[in-house]
Amino acid sequence: MCNTVNLPGGGYAIVCGGHNRKVRKCACGKVAALLCDWPIGGGKTCDKPVCQDCAVKGGPNVDFCPSHERLKL
Ligand SMILES: [Zn+2]
Ligand SMILES: [Zn+2]
Repeated sequence: MCNTVNLPGGGYAIVCGGHNRKVRKCACGKVAALLCDWPIGGGKTCDKPVCQDCAVKGGPNVDFCPSHERLKL
């Protein structure tokens, strides 16, 4: 979802990403669109930012970072 934001002094900026303001980066340097869903206990997940190329599907809406995907096997 993208929004157009008017800048003071004219012009505008296009802001995308909705609630996620901070741009997270994957270990490979790309923008991370996903977070690792590997459970680390206490109801928390790894949350390591991973891009779509590096993320490994664990199921619908479940993605793992490459290091945790290795543990799964
Ligand atoms: Zn990556
Ligand atoms: Zn992980």
